Formats: sequence, structure tokens, C-alpha cells
Amino acid sequence: MSTKQRILIVGGVAGGASCAARARRLSESAEIIMFDRGPYVSFANCGLPYYVGNVIKKEDNLLVATPELFQQRFNIDVRVHAEVVRIDCANHYVEVKNAATGRTNTEPYDALVLSPGANPIRPDLPGIDLPGIFSLRTIPDSRSIRQWIDQYQARHAVVVGAGYIGMEMIENLHLRGLKVTVVEKQGQVMPLLDAEMVAPVQETLKHKGVQLHLNESVNGFSKGPEHRLVLDLGSGRQLKADLVILCIGVRPETRLAREAGLEIGPSGGIRVDAQLRTSDPHIWAVGDAVEVHDVVTGEPAVIPLAGPANRQGRIAADVIMGRPSVFRGTQGTSVVGIMEQVVAFTGPSEKLLKGLDRWQQMEKIYLHPENHAGYYPGASPISLKLIFSKTDGRIVGAQAVGKAGVEKRIDVIAMAIQKQGTVFDLEEAELCYAPQFGSAKDALNHAGMIAANILRGDLVPAHWEDAARSDALMLDVREPDEFKRGRYDGALNLPLHQLRDRIDELPRDQEIWAYCYVGQRSYYAARILAQNGFQVKNISGGFKQFGQFQAARNNHKPEA
Ligand SMILES: Cc1cc2nc3c(=O)[nH]c(=O)nc-3n(C[C@H](O)[C@H](O)[C@H](O)COP(=O)(O)OP(=O)(O)OC[C@H]3O[C@@H](n4cnc5c(N)ncnc54)[C@H](O)[C@@H]3O)c2cc1C
Repeated sequence: MSTKQRILIVGGVAGGASCAARARRLSESAEIIMFDRGPYVSFANCGLPYYVGNVIKKEDNLLVATPELFQQRFNIDVRVHAEVVRIDCANHYVEVKNAATGRTNTEPYDALVLSPGANPIRPDLPGIDLPGIFSLRTIPDSRSIRQWIDQYQARHAVVVGAGYIGMEMIENLHLRGLKVTVVEKQGQVMPLLDAEMVAPVQETLKHKGVQLHLNESVNGFSKGPEHRLVLDLGSGRQLKADLVILCIGVRPETRLAREAGLEIGPSGGIRVDAQLRTSDPHIWAVGDAVEVHDVVTGEPAVIPLAGPANRQGRIAADVIMGRPSVFRGTQGTSVVGIMEQVVAFTGPSEKLLKGLDRWQQMEKIYLHPENHAGYYPGASPISLKLIFSKTDGRIVGAQAVGKAGVEKRIDVIAMAIQKQGTVFDLEEAELCYAPQFGSAKDALNHAGMIAANILRGDLVPAHWEDAARSDALMLDVREPDEFKRGRYDGALNLPLHQLRDRIDELPRDQEIWAYCYVGQRSYYAARILAQNGFQVKNISGGFKQFGQFQAARNNHKPEA
């Protein structure tokens, strides 16, 4: 393709702005015009919750780049308040409506890039348009929320939906001193993760005074006294609030693409090929609006994240400029901070894999390592779940929760997944170490070793969800004082240090499931027992994991 081309970009934030800047770096001669219907381009959507929480104090700090900067630095013509309202694919032009004048003009293109993002879902519920019910997508949205809180001295907010934006809003409203209530349809917060992994987060939220209504939905809103709102819940309960934030997900913005006849994929995003080209060879699409393929499951998916949007923008520009770049797909690697806890994950969850009927080939382990050497002050535990293929050890997904060092572990696993790494690679991974940052045998080496032990047949794992159905003897190898403080009903206590001397007390005709607090002592016990001819399994994650498992199970029952 000639480099003297006219490139039009619809949407000037993550995907659009990356595309525009990259296109300029590759071609000084192209004419590049970027349209945004809003007042800003290149703003930090991801910072919006923190602006509401006053962590980011000045609105200007949310502006990563201005139209002037795009013009001066990149010679890119940025038009704000300019909505692209129609694409004429046959004649290669778009119609652009100016919000100030209401006038529409046409702009021809050689290449058109769509990066219109996604729209917050606002279900058609009674009262949904009442003042005080907000979504959060733009700077003006965040400004309105701040103004409402200040104007009415709001004290009580309801956040509907406990995904990652919901979590960030809970934290930031709490920071502003508001009492926060959460309504979530599913039986857990952060539904993209497995329920047992977010149990500690739910505990923290409750501990901080956040009221959780899980397994609950909102049926409608009505006006209360003064500015207040009343929410009618599916259970028949009512909640009162000074403001409501809807965080129930986003839908790809596909109106333009649909009306232009571009193909839409089964997951609802604009269909693109690996080079981000739509069904029209002159039109590319990137970001939240597109359907990607999940690199692990291969399934079509809509995964609205800033990292993929930025990379896609860059790749689309490469391709337009004739380079053979390819988008590899997405695996949903994410991190959220919530009240001193960090929650991060990459790849599919267990429940997603079960839903896709892929769980039979998988195994999982739980571990609770410390974020750095235990002897160095301030070590804190990480709860880590690793999912891998039983057949070849390929790493499939991971989830982690803790106070520190969480995202570092998930980032390493994310890269391992992208490189088709196995648990044997984790076992051997050389990671940086000093006592305040990690351990000589890092949490991830441990994860690799445990999983590799399973695949080599040195360790047979068991899981708490199967315990109730099992006839096995539950063997608790912790110390008696630990056992007294809490145990699995019916378990036999035989501390690890007495095991060799008292081994004949154990049955040889019954399977034994060993556990300790996190799974390490019981692994030692399992090795002793296995080498003495016992049928033994090690319960992954130990008694600590039992606590998370039970909490998750209880949370899936509606609150009384
Ligand atoms: C509150 C919040 C917090 C987030 N936090 C994170 C995070 O921590 N980590 C993370 O990875 N992701 C996060 N995200 C998601 C991330 O911001 C998006 O994935 C990313 O911005 C998507 O980029 P995009 O270019 O596809 O769309 P956007 O960045 O949404 O940009 C789309 C732009 O297109 C414009 N537009 C739409 N239609 C038209 C049209 N017809 N004509 C002209 N302009 C149009 C819109 O006005 C908008 O400005 C967050 C999102 C929000 C809302």
C-alpha cells in the first residue's frame, strides 16, 4: 500500500491514539485524522475511579495527551466533539457530525480504523434514568459523580456489579468516607475468578464495613426523599442510597460497524482477522469493540482491557503501513487493587473451563507461599491457584490474591502461557531474588515443583470439594494445638514428626488424604506414606484452602 495515504481513526483513546501515533512513526507522509465524539482524546479511563476517590486530585492529570500535543509532536489532526455517524464502505468515506454546529461533513479515507470502545450496560429497568444513577466511562462521568457526592454530601453509595470496575469504585467510594453496599447477581465478587479465590477479598470487604448482597439483582429504582434513591432488589428487599454506580459490564460499540454491514462475531464484537482487518479490506478495528480469540481456549471473546487495545492499535497501524504484524489473541491478564488486597489472574478460570467441557484434561493446585523470604520483615502470604494440562503440563491459567508480589507472579505466568510454557518451565524458572523481594525458591518455582511432582507421579493431589464424597481417612499432620483450633470433621490427628514412629496405626486398606495448614508438611507425610506402601493423596492448599473453599460455598447461598 502507498504510504501517501489518508488514514481516518474513529475514537481517540487507547486503541485509536496508539494507532495514530504508530502510523505517524511509520509514515511521515500519511495524512492522519483522529475523531472523537467526546471532549478529550487519550485520557486515562483506568484512572477514573481514582479521580472519583480523590487519589488523583486534578482532572488534568487524567489527560495523557491533548489534541495540541498530537498536532505538534505527531502532526496528527485531532477533531474532538466530532462523531463519525456513517461509513460508506463502497465509496470509502465517513460522515462526521460536529457536536457544536450539528453539521455533518464527509471525509474520504484510504484506510479507516475503528476504535470506538464499549458502552457501559444500562439495563432497561424502571427508574434507570433517575438522577444519581451513574456509569463510569468518561471524564465527564467521573466529574458528575464527584459533583453529586459533594453537592449532596453523599454518605451511602450502592455499587451494582462487583467486577473489576465495581471493585475499584467500592475502594474509592470507601476512601471518600462513604458507606458502600454492593449488589452482585452472582454468588461471589469478581466473577471472572473462581469463587474460592476471591473468598479472602469478600472477607476483607466485610471487615471494612462494605455490605455485600450476593446472589442478588436490582429490579428497579425509585425516587426517595430529597435526592435519594430506593433500589428494589430481586429478593424483595429495598436499599436506600445517595447515589448508585452501575458497574455491570460493557458492550462493544458496534453501531457504526453494523450499519456499514461489517461482520459481527458471535460474542458481539466486530469480527477482525489476526491483522485486525474487518470484513471490509479497507477497514480495521481494534480495542473493546472487537472480538478477539482467547489464546488459551481458542474461543471467540470480548475482553475489554487497555493492554490489548493499545497493542492492537499499534498492530493495525503496522499492517496499514504494509508490515506483517499479527495480533496473538488475548488471555485476559488483569490486576485489581481492593482495600490493601491485590487480585490478579491470567487465562481461563476453572469454572470457565468446566463450562467449555475442557476440565477433564486439567489439573489444579493451590499454594499459599509468602511474597518474600519469611525471615525478612513484612512477608505476607499469597493465595495462588495454578491450572495446567494433565497430559503435558502446559500452563493454562492462574489466579492469585494477596497483599504484595501478586501481580509479579501472575505476569510471569502470563508470559509463560504466551510462550506455551509448562509447569516444568516454572520449576526451572530463574527469577530475581533478594530477601525483601522473593525467595531463592520463588513461589512460582514452588508452584512448578508441586505440579511437576503430580505429573511425575510423586504426589497424588486431592481437593476439598471431593472430600465429602470420599471414603478416605482424613489425616491431619499438623500439631495438636493447630488441630484443636480447627479441623476437618472426623479427621485423625497424627503430627508429621510422629508419623514414622506411629505409622502402623494407619490403615493399609483405606485411602488416606493428608493435609496440614498449606500443604507442605502433608506433602512430606504423603511421601513417607507412599514409600511405605500406603494409598495416599495430598489435599492441595491444606486447611487454609479448606477455609476458602467453605467460605465460597457459603457465599453461594443467598444471605439470610
Ligand atoms: C473506569 C474504567 C477503569 C478501567 N480500568 C482498567 C484497568 O485498570 N486495566 C485495563 O486493562 N483496562 C481498564 N479499563 C478498560 C480500558 O480503559 C479499555 O479497555 C480501553 O480504554 C479500550 O480502548 P478503546 O480504544 O477500545 O476504547 P476507549 O478507550 O473507550 O475509546 C473509545 C473512544 O471512542 C469514542 N467514540 C466512540 N464512537 C465514536 C464515534 N462514532 N465517533 C467518534 N468517536 C467515537 C469514544 O468517545 C471514546 O472516547 C478501564 C475502563 C474503565 C471505564
